[in-house]
Amino acid sequence: MQDRLTDRGLWRTRALVGGEWIGADGGTTIAVEDPATGDTIGEVPDCGAAETERAIAAAEQALPAWRARPAPERCAILRRWNDLILAATEDLARILTAEQGKPLAEAQAEIEYAASFVAWFADEGQRSHGQEVPAPTADRRIMVRKEPVGVCAAITPWNFPAAMITRKLAPALAAGCTIVLKPAQQTPFTALALGELAIRAGVPAGVLGIVTGDAAAVGGAMTASPVVRLLSFTGSTGVGAKLMEQSAPTIKKLALELGGNAPLLVFDDADLDNAVEAAVAAKFRNAGQSCVAVNRILVQAGIHDAFVDRLAARVRALRVGPGVEDGVEIGPLIDDKARAKVADMVADAQDKGATLVAQAPAAGRFTAPMLLTGMTPEMRAAQEEIFGPVAAIYRFETEADGLALANATPYGLAAYYCTTDLHRAWRVGEALEAGMVGLNTGAISLAMAPFGGIKQSGLGREGGAEGLEEYLETKALHWTGLG
Ligand code: NAP
Repeated sequence: MQDRLTDRGLWRTRALVGGEWIGADGGTTIAVEDPATGDTIGEVPDCGAAETERAIAAAEQALPAWRARPAPERCAILRRWNDLILAATEDLARILTAEQGKPLAEAQAEIEYAASFVAWFADEGQRSHGQEVPAPTADRRIMVRKEPVGVCAAITPWNFPAAMITRKLAPALAAGCTIVLKPAQQTPFTALALGELAIRAGVPAGVLGIVTGDAAAVGGAMTASPVVRLLSFTGSTGVGAKLMEQSAPTIKKLALELGGNAPLLVFDDADLDNAVEAAVAAKFRNAGQSCVAVNRILVQAGIHDAFVDRLAARVRALRVGPGVEDGVEIGPLIDDKARAKVADMVADAQDKGATLVAQAPAAGRFTAPMLLTGMTPEMRAAQEEIFGPVAAIYRFETEADGLALANATPYGLAAYYCTTDLHRAWRVGEALEAGMVGLNTGAISLAMAPFGGIKQSGLGREGGAEGLEEYLETKALHWTGLG
């Protein structure tokens, strides 16, 4: 892999602890595979609790100097990090595609998207203003200060190996926190390359730690540590709930970006071309392996058949293959388990009456993009994240029926709808139970907007001004007796 990079120094294969690149104490490693071929592309240290505790100790030691640096200085380092990431886009995208599988063009777009969080927080980090509050007596002054939370921990998933990391690291560092990251076992190399660039940008030793290894051991050490004041986790709702429980004894601040079950409502008055494009964007990005992927496409009866025909044509034309091949739009799913899960969900839907209307050519390690109609709420794919390239269509009659179907889930991350009626746009936008709602668009993730969910999709927000706020504590200073 290293030979394919212009900057071979980006191929880091060790963990980052206290500014040093280290192996696991026991010398053991974890192999990382290319999901398109099953070939091992490299190995990373199989660290556990001891290495994590050392990274936390280094972060604690580095905290006083880092938080004392003026915000513009910290943000200048972030600005350099952003520039270095953008300059290394091609190499980073090659690493990302090799370990995650998504098409190179999508990997490049993810690197740019990842950098956009660094750029955003390099600016936003200089605006953590406090305020003075009018006091009830003449001899008192009340000041409200924003202070860094302290030592933080982050755990990230494999589906967006760069963006899920910068979305946490950039606001943490901008706020004056230090942070220890555990990337997903299947995609550690993008994380380590980002760490290398952070060091080159001037992030001091210990301020950022990256520990690869056993999830339960590393996560256990992070949650057990009283030094860690905040845990930011992106991943499944089940693991999020477990980490919340583990964090309870030390009362950590929690930021949880969890699973979703996003609906896309297509109303009779939608612009058909626009609705099909929104569905393709929100369904097939990253082969459907996204927390904000459209899991249920709810189509009103009057536009149903025309929409299905148009989307079916798009699905049949999707090009599936290894992410490194030119023109490929859908890469492999992350592993055998993911492929089996999608196949089971499709079989379950067909057993319960769904029709497979269209399918793109695909074989071997690649799951074919599919279009299913006749979906109903008792099917598994209605209740769980498909996390694959399967567009599942439900038919509804009235706006009220559509809304009831859309909200009939314990999740509340993203929701989308297509209409050209302004009155409906307001009504539905307000009624959808989700942290993010897209009207006539399948793209809702931008660095300047708050990203996150309600219900069982999580706590807190990433991006926007809210994303910085997660890493800040509020202190009220009461002054009296000075005059
Ligand atoms: P996952 O199994 O929950 O894993 C996510 C991360 O948690 C990985 O780093 C994983 O480590 C780690 N982990 C697993 N078990 C752990 C434990 N017991 N203690 C500590 N850490 C543990 O989720 P996934 O399958 O990788 O990712 C897909 C899920 O993430 C989906 O549900 C998706 O919706 C959600 N997601 C949400 C957002 C959002 O912003 N809301 C964004 C992207 C993805 P290993 O890799 O080492 O197992």
